[in-house]
Amino acid sequence: MLRRFRNLARLGPVQVATGYDQRGREKHTAACTAPRCGFSAEYDTRSAAELAATTHRCSAH
Ligand SMILES: [Zn+2]
Repeated sequence: MLRRFRNLARLGPVQVATGYDQRGREKHTAACTAPRCGFSAEYDTRSAAELAATTHRCSAH
């Protein structure tokens, strides 16, 4: 499922990964692993994704 992604990191309940979109552009995804949260977003920079992960206030906790 996340085979295309690399540099996976776990920041609290949020997983951050770097990958490429269909046009080959680098993108950074932050996705919460909590079952009932559903938070997931993509960012242009790794730091933005990591910031979103660290500041995520998980509603499932
Ligand atoms: Zn969450």
